[in-house]
Amino acid sequence: MPVRTCAGCGAKAPQGELLRLALVRGLVSPDPDRRQPGRGAYICRRGECAVRVRRGRGKARLFKVSLGEGAWAGFLENPEIRSLPACGEEPRRS
Ligand SMILES: [Zn+2]
Repeated sequence: MPVRTCAGCGAKAPQGELLRLALVRGLVSPDPDRRQPGRGAYICRRGECAVRVRRGRGKARLFKVSLGEGAWAGFLENPEIRSLPACGEEPRRS
């Protein structure tokens, strides 16, 4: 299993333990089954890391393309993202 780096906190983990994000119709979206084409990014399955990647300085280049603020519309409200355990809880294993 390849190792990926969380775009939020920088931790490295096996790909399957991280949540893949992909651009879907121009929106940054969770891709838990890793089925979306194109470049993906990964975050820990923690609300904290979702917030970090949303607010962090690297977010504009997350997929190696320029992302406007509009690409993040609804990201933190996405049910998949909202279901991530909040800061301080144990990451959920899938
Ligand atoms: Zn992380």
